[in-house]
Amino acid sequence: MVKISLQINAQLENVTELQPADQEDFGWCMKLQCMNCNEETPDFVFCCLSESSEVSGGRGSASLVIKCKLCKRENSIDIIKDSLSSYMSEDSGKFKTIVTFDCRGVQPIEFKPNDGWKVKAEGEKSNATFELELTENEWYDYDEKASESVSVTEFKYQFK
Ligand SMILES: [Zn+2]
Repeated sequence: MVKISLQINAQLENVTELQPADQEDFGWCMKLQCMNCNEETPDFVFCCLSESSEVSGGRGSASLVIKCKLCKRENSIDIIKDSLSSYMSEDSGKFKTIVTFDCRGVQPIEFKPNDGWKVKAEGEKSNATFELELTENEWYDYDEKASESVSVTEFKYQFK
C-alpha cells in the first residue's frame, strides 16, 4: 500500500477557502498507472468517497477497484477520509495536500479538477459561498455584498 497525496496550488482573491462542494460525492477525476506493468488507464476514472467496492480475496473495500487492461491485475485506490482538507487563502501560491489516497497497485498520474467546487468568502463585509468549476484552471465572479471581485487563478496540482 502506498499513500499518495494530491496537492493543489492556486491564487485566491477575496475568498478564504476552496474545497469540493460535497466531499462525500465529489468525484476525484484521475488517470491511473498500473505499478505492475506501467499501463495507464485510457480514460479518466472517478474516485468518490461515497462509493465503495469489494476488493477480491476478502481484503476489504476501496473507493475504486479497477482491473488493469494489460496485465489483468486487480488494483484499487481508496480515499483517506481524514486527509480531506480545504485550501485556504493563506496557502495561496503554495502547494497544499487536500486529499490522500491509499493506493494498491496503481498510482494517480493526472488530475482534472472539473466542476463541483465551492469557495467561501468569509469576512467583515461578506459571508458568501460560490459554486464553481475549475475546468479552465481559473474562475472569476463578483461578490455583491462585499462589492469586490473574487477569483481562483493559476490552479496547479501535483502528486506527492
Ligand atoms: Zn498492469
